[in-house]
Amino acid sequence: MVLEIVKYGHPVLRERGARIKEVSADIRQLIDDMFETMYDSKGIGLAAQQIGIASQLTVIDVRGVTDRPSTLEIGSKPADVESIMPLVLINPKITPLGEPATGPEGCLSFPEIFADITRSEKVDVKALDAKGDPISFRAGGLLARAIQHEVDHLNGVLFVDKMTAKDKAELRAEIDDLHTATKKSLAKKK
Ligand code: ZN
Repeated sequence: MVLEIVKYGHPVLRERGARIKEVSADIRQLIDDMFETMYDSKGIGLAAQQIGIASQLTVIDVRGVTDRPSTLEIGSKPADVESIMPLVLINPKITPLGEPATGPEGCLSFPEIFADITRSEKVDVKALDAKGDPISFRAGGLLARAIQHEVDHLNGVLFVDKMTAKDKAELRAEIDDLHTATKKSLAKKK
């Protein structure tokens, strides 16, 4: 089922996600729905907060992007990125490493708003997968960027928080308009 994506201005986007204690049937259904929602919007990542649930759960799939490479190492050996796609991360812990890298980003909770964001070029990841089994790997390139963006969501952090002051000033009106529109539609629903 395609779920409604929560837009900037909704308070759930600022909530830190609760740890998932067990990968129940409900969680498995939620994972399926999150992938369906993400593919429907042509995104490469979606966090639980973005469908209105503050949990430590995110789904990622970078296979649709061919012009921005991703890298993967498992147990210090290069591995095929596709081998872990589509990727489910439950209760992820990440350690950013390597040089800072700047690249364009968007977010499904900020339609039509894009900016260059600086993040670490690589990231070590420990998490549970969709079965609840522990996984660990090192990601680079676009995958590392997507993981850092999504794990930020799980902690209530948004890409606007990481924009340069200049970009944020230039996008101020669009960001404020989106925030106001979201607040208005929330007030109507009450
Ligand atoms: Zn996002």
